[in-house]
Amino acid sequence: MSSIDSLPPLREVIDTHQIAARKSLGQNFLLDLNLTAKIARQAGDLTGCDVLEIGPGPGGLTRGLLAEGARRVLAVEKDSRCMPALDEIAAAYPGQLQVINGDALDIDPLQYLTPPVRVAANLPYNVGTELLVRWLTPPQWPPFWQSLTLMFQREVAERIVAEPGSKSYGRLAILAQWRTEARIVLSLPPGAFTPPPKVSSAVVHLTALPEPRFPADAKVLSQVVAAGFNQRRKMLRASLKSVAPNIEDHLNAVGIAPTERAEQVSLEAFCALARSVAAAR
Ligand code: SAM
Repeated sequence: MSSIDSLPPLREVIDTHQIAARKSLGQNFLLDLNLTAKIARQAGDLTGCDVLEIGPGPGGLTRGLLAEGARRVLAVEKDSRCMPALDEIAAAYPGQLQVINGDALDIDPLQYLTPPVRVAANLPYNVGTELLVRWLTPPQWPPFWQSLTLMFQREVAERIVAEPGSKSYGRLAILAQWRTEARIVLSLPPGAFTPPPKVSSAVVHLTALPEPRFPADAKVLSQVVAAGFNQRRKMLRASLKSVAPNIEDHLNAVGIAPTERAEQVSLEAFCALARSVAAAR
């Protein structure tokens, strides 16, 4: 019998430790261990890796990650009611699970991790988006992780992997796709969670690229993209005026029609524009 089988079912864990789901903490738990093992498998080969898990809750995904062979799991959980449940898992996997009771937005987990590191999480979506943006930008970039496997509200997942021309395409797509390979690897209906959330969810797997997909200065790219998408209905010659006085010349120089809108412009073209603007500064 493997260690995961010797632990009680998650429903029992929740009853025993009285972890009634709290809306304020975005608690929608995954109680099906087949499903959490499936999500853990999407995180890639975990053997020989430290896994940083944010928001383990009663530990369904944690158990999946350990059962899938993670060398160590470092789990950061805000809700102290979950600690006894996580302690039970730690006892079943001696030396392999370290739990920090705290807010993932305040904690620097790097000191506890040994490379290679993968990140896996089923988090409230707003915390997930904030952490994703932090993990993709300095000072947290270059990354401490090889891959991120994160549950999002379906609509947010679509914003991460969106292509030009779609209404989901925007700053998040550009940021994620510039520095990572990002794919939706699993879709989950509300009924997969206890209690069920209002909307569907999806797991996104992001692999860090060794170099950004196209060269560009990160700050200038961010300025151009922010200006373009903050006024996404406007033509670029208007929305990007604040970026450079002669923005039409830059747009023409890199082959973007000044009458286009941001959502039609590819990542490659945005990077070319950022290079042109940076060279003139
Ligand atoms: N991973 C568990 C699962 O799949 O069943 C729980 C998922 S539940 C959607 C989100 C978890 O993140 C909860 O356990 C919640 O307490 C925790 N959480 C919420 N905000 C957090 C934060 N800022 N830092 C760390 N954990 C947080």
